[in-house]
Amino acid sequence: MHGLMMDSPLMISSLIEYAARNHSDTQIVSRRADGGLHRYDYGQCYQRTCQLAHVLRALGIEHGDRVGTLAWNGYRHLELYYAVSGIGAVCHTINPRLFSEQLVYIMNHAADRVLFVDLSFVPLLESVADELMSVRAYVLMCDEDDMPQTTLPAAYCYETLLCGSQMQFQWPVFDERDASSLCYTSGTTGAPKGVLYNHRSTVLHAYALCSANSALPLSCCETVMPVVPMFHVHAWGIPYAAVMAGSRIVFPGAQLDGASLHELIQAEAVTQSAGVPTIWFALLAYLAQSGARVDSLRNVVVGGAAAPLSLIEQFEQGHGVNVCHAWGMTEMSPVGTTGMLKPRFDALSEAQRFAIKLKQGRMIYGVDMKIVDDDGVEQACDGDAVGQLLVRGPWIASAYFDDALGTAHSFTDDGWFRTGDVATLDGDGHVQIVDRSKDLIKSGGEWISSIDLENAAVGHPHIAEAAAIAIADEKWGERPLLVVVLGDGYELTSQAMLGWLEDKVARWCLPDKVLFVDELPHTATGKISKTQLREQVRAMNLISR
Ligand code: AMP
Repeated sequence: MHGLMMDSPLMISSLIEYAARNHSDTQIVSRRADGGLHRYDYGQCYQRTCQLAHVLRALGIEHGDRVGTLAWNGYRHLELYYAVSGIGAVCHTINPRLFSEQLVYIMNHAADRVLFVDLSFVPLLESVADELMSVRAYVLMCDEDDMPQTTLPAAYCYETLLCGSQMQFQWPVFDERDASSLCYTSGTTGAPKGVLYNHRSTVLHAYALCSANSALPLSCCETVMPVVPMFHVHAWGIPYAAVMAGSRIVFPGAQLDGASLHELIQAEAVTQSAGVPTIWFALLAYLAQSGARVDSLRNVVVGGAAAPLSLIEQFEQGHGVNVCHAWGMTEMSPVGTTGMLKPRFDALSEAQRFAIKLKQGRMIYGVDMKIVDDDGVEQACDGDAVGQLLVRGPWIASAYFDDALGTAHSFTDDGWFRTGDVATLDGDGHVQIVDRSKDLIKSGGEWISSIDLENAAVGHPHIAEAAAIAIADEKWGERPLLVVVLGDGYELTSQAMLGWLEDKVARWCLPDKVLFVDELPHTATGKISKTQLREQVRAMNLISR
């Protein structure tokens, strides 16, 4: 017997309709390209989203068509999120930091029909436009007065298109499982893989983010600043969750340096924010050097890469800002775990609580997890057993978009997604990511976690960034090499670095060599690119694996 409840499909358009109706005067603030601020409210955002929906229809966009965006975090990008998905098309957020061959690959693979572009990416697109097979029009996200001369064919101005278009739109209602958006994983190996989200997964993921248990408990009392880009898994779902909650939103645009972020946090009284560790280290360095404060900020979410202890200490001890460590993946919409501590840990010492915060948080309802050994046998959730981490749930991909090979490799026959991460699970639901399986260092049959080494190294006050990779060793198979970038104006010897690590990692985990470099290579999502680093090290004849 079925229950007798209404079968209302979960539509992304309903989020923005709800916000316009109930939070119409709540502000959305965006940093413009010229550094100034754009300010409007949910009511105006909704009207412009309706106008954009008419424009998309006029451009010939149909249900299921892909519409690409190359844009920073800002109000026009938000309008695109809602208008494109709202009419039943698929919003393909493109990471502009990808290599141009990867950009061409994903735009062709996605078969994008129209591209919406911030002016800063116009030269990039001009250089590859000849190779784009499906694009029929380019819309430049600017005012008419700022329209540049461009070689892009069929180039339109965003504001000119919107101007005069109707401010009401009848949003269609269709199957909640229809595709709504598309992101490609940064693809450190092989071709990038597409993850195709749907309306149902997006709305359910937004509900989860709004929960008080989440990394980013959102409500109408919060001002949230997503620093994580809207081209990196929907800024971790914040543009949907914040709208659902009626939170005030502050978009930082392209200016992601410490000084600019600090200025926005102070001026706009930001209470919550989210980003990768590199961003937070830049903000903390600015605060340390200027003596500035972040009075309104209560909570930062750190994810995308492991949050080192030094980052947690600086935020919590130095600025009274709670650090919430979270873990997830493009394939997971992306949130899988969040780090709110249970009340029973209040009695612990600060050091003990920070040790728990170093773990990647607890699994949230909606994401089922297990760890398995190489034969697929499930391992204990005791905080000690280490295994390959598998996940499943309603906001986790079931396959890659048009990629049978990638799908066969990453999804099990019985419905689990292989994350490629190696982890422990404990009885409280905490996940500790030991490493990406391909980044673990196997020395004399024992595994060394590159994350542990890197976290210990960046705890040194003179180290700006660190990466540990394996180099070949005749006796041990592999040994760790630590590659570090010194902070501005600091000097350090290998001996001093190793001395610092001595009481922080097991003796056999100590790196054999420390290499000092001016900078480390990064992926398109701002993480250290170990693939590129291995190549660089190989070129130095240090023979990394
Ligand atoms: P992406 O899909 O590009 O967001 O990358 C997902 C991968 O980033 C995960 O599989 C992890 O290897 C890594 N990752 C994300 N969050 C964390 C975290 N908090 N700690 C360690 N690794 C993380």
